[in-house]
Amino acid sequence: MYKALVVEKDDAGKTSASVQELTDDRLPEGDVTVAIEHTTLNYKDGLCVGSGGGLVREYPHVPGIDFAGTVLESQSDRYKAGDKVLLTGWRVGETHWGGYAQKTRLNADWLVPLPEGLTTRQAMAIGTAGLSAMLAVMALERNGVKPGDDVLVTGASGGVGSVATSILANLGYAVAAVTGRPENADYLKALGASTIVPREEINETIKKPLEKESWNGCVDAVGSAMLARVLGQMKYGGTVAAIGLAGGADLPATMIPFLLRGVSLVGVDSVHQPFENRQQAWARLARDLPLEKLEQTIQTATLADLPDLGRRILKGDVQGRVVVDVNA
Ligand code: NDP
Repeated sequence: MYKALVVEKDDAGKTSASVQELTDDRLPEGDVTVAIEHTTLNYKDGLCVGSGGGLVREYPHVPGIDFAGTVLESQSDRYKAGDKVLLTGWRVGETHWGGYAQKTRLNADWLVPLPEGLTTRQAMAIGTAGLSAMLAVMALERNGVKPGDDVLVTGASGGVGSVATSILANLGYAVAAVTGRPENADYLKALGASTIVPREEINETIKKPLEKESWNGCVDAVGSAMLARVLGQMKYGGTVAAIGLAGGADLPATMIPFLLRGVSLVGVDSVHQPFENRQQAWARLARDLPLEKLEQTIQTATLADLPDLGRRILKGDVQGRVVVDVNA
């Protein structure tokens, strides 16, 4: 038997989530069985716990797009019982039952060995949000953005934004953090942001296609009007790594920043990263992310807390990272 947060849909199409005891014959398909220790709450999980958000195909469903734990049984040569592993992406928690459970079964190819020096709790404090933040930083680096440069982080007090701020500050970038919550200024400064930019100062519909050149790089978790405005504020040759759309999926921008300032817009996808990329990004996270600072971003939750937290993350009302102890 194992506990899981199960989302069900009734005949009227209404979804509800509750913690249930399941028998092992209800484990999903796969060649590795994992005893999950920690999982997290991401924006996508908020969608899956609530309405499904178009991500869930079949009910009942167990959400949770990332988790870390210990291998219980393995038919794969890559893992043996007792190995510590973590999972992000591959549509686990969307089309395959995910980490909001004490146990799961899945394809060995989707797992990554837990990096040396990280606990399962720390790995999940990083989680999909942290992996995505690191992939965004690596995308900026590939385009020549370097320590000392001016980098903007949007949606800074969210999961992706908090970790991106921490990594960039630790690597020596001058980080300006955009937030709609002025009360989070001290939190963002403690993570290493040198400047706090109020959301309303940036998040307006585009006024002029080009404005003062301000940023060499940007990690953007918000999209929409915010991204459109930022494109016009990039320095010549600057790069925006677009990671999310917390502010909407549209992009009311013009071509001018691309044509007259050589700005690059790079999309970042953490879901389908090949094994080598994921392993490289995790090794960098273990090395480049100050774990003591990361502690400040964590709030701990239980499986039973997730329905409420899921609703709150969709309203932009969750600060930093939520780590879930599935055995609490
Ligand atoms: P969070 O909700 O934790 O953070 C988003 C932050 O954006 C909020 O905390 C808030 O920050 C800001 N925000 C929210 N709504 C608005 C708005 N309407 N206008 C402007 N700012 C807003 O989510 P995550 O950090 O987990 O994820 C952020 C985005 O990244 C999501 O769209 C998610 O789906 C996506 N994502 C994509 C991945 C990929 O592989 N491409 C992987 C992981 C996440 P503040 O209060 O500081 O302004």
